[in-house]
Amino acid sequence: MGDRETLIVRSRRTVLPEGERAVAVAVQGEKIAGILPYDTPADVDLGEVALLPGLVDSHVHVNEPGRTEWEGFATATRAAAAGGVTTIVDMPLNSIPPTTDPGALAVKRAAAAGKCAVDVGFWGGAVPDNLHALRGLHEAGVYGFKCFLSPSGVEEFTELSTGELRTAMKEIASFDGLMLVHAEDPALLLPPDGPTYREFLVSRPPESERSAVETVIALARETGVRVHILHVSAADCLEPVAQAQAAGVRISAETCPHYLTLSAGEDLGTESKCCPPIRDTGNRDRLWRGLADGVLSLVVSDHSPSVPELKRGGFDQAWGGVSSLQIGLPVIWTEARRRGHTLADVVGWMADAPARLAGLRHKGRIAVGMDADLVAFAPDGRFTVDAAALHHRNPLTPYHGRTLHGVVQGTWLRGRRVEPGASRGTLL
Ligand SMILES: [Zn+2]
Repeated sequence: MGDRETLIVRSRRTVLPEGERAVAVAVQGEKIAGILPYDTPADVDLGEVALLPGLVDSHVHVNEPGRTEWEGFATATRAAAAGGVTTIVDMPLNSIPPTTDPGALAVKRAAAAGKCAVDVGFWGGAVPDNLHALRGLHEAGVYGFKCFLSPSGVEEFTELSTGELRTAMKEIASFDGLMLVHAEDPALLLPPDGPTYREFLVSRPPESERSAVETVIALARETGVRVHILHVSAADCLEPVAQAQAAGVRISAETCPHYLTLSAGEDLGTESKCCPPIRDTGNRDRLWRGLADGVLSLVVSDHSPSVPELKRGGFDQAWGGVSSLQIGLPVIWTEARRRGHTLADVVGWMADAPARLAGLRHKGRIAVGMDADLVAFAPDGRFTVDAAALHHRNPLTPYHGRTLHGVVQGTWLRGRRVEPGASRGTLL
């Protein structure tokens, strides 16, 4: 936009909170200043290319410092920007140290400073030895607290017992914070019996997710705390979550692109290994219904990479985590359009709802006063995923070789186009 104060971008398919409209969006400095008639002279005329709010991905594992060879802030945020994601919220594990006290948050922030292509916020962690010190971490600026009920996969981030979960929830309720739960009941998990996908799937049954969700609901009811269920895979969880929502329990839930687009019946490789696991196609259809009904309100990546060596071996050995940060939008749009959903639905799941979950009031919507985070997205464009061409650190993704609908043509972060190599992202 040169040295002018104002930028005007217009599109016949601008996704506003009320739906798609032909309008021009006026940007002043870093903020959206006006929604104007489409015939306003524009600096950027997108025509039939859609204009979306920048996506907010509230479930990203960056892993820096400590496991930067798995993923770092520079590579993850470059992937995000290229994929139309203008804000990520980083998970408290698998970096070392994990984000479980204010000192560790300061270490994370120092590691991220000056390297980020998009804006970055942070979740904290609730582990057995910090349950009485969560308020300090809350006051240091995390948006909420993630915990596990089953082993996390890394030894420095330990799961909570039911008693510890109750203690954490009471503490978090005392300052009206948010608890995020990886919900699998360890009593219903089995040791994997062999290297195949079928054996892995049997070891993590849907009952384990449902049982953990029921425990979380009971304790949320008891303590009054606001809770969020991470990465719902088992559709059997939808019924108890819907009932709790109807009964006024403060509970929300997310799912992820891999649960919505892959299935256990395919020939899945270990790039697709994650916990909880990807289940069958009937389960997948029910997750889409959960989104349509609003029981599930967010679709976020759970981008959780590792080095390729750790993804080798059978499903009983390989690291659990899927890499998809850069391509979540076309992965979801390709399937959503086939199922009759609109771009506005996708924006609701991938921008507005994650921003609301983290309390990012100035993100996730195209409206006056919001940050001018914008994405030019060609909904009818097509491309084939090449893992090696993606910007995240290690060239692995289960979507390699897939042809997807929807091409991100450009991204603006707070009013300015994201240029390759730029690091204008701020730490929120
Ligand atoms: Zn995760």
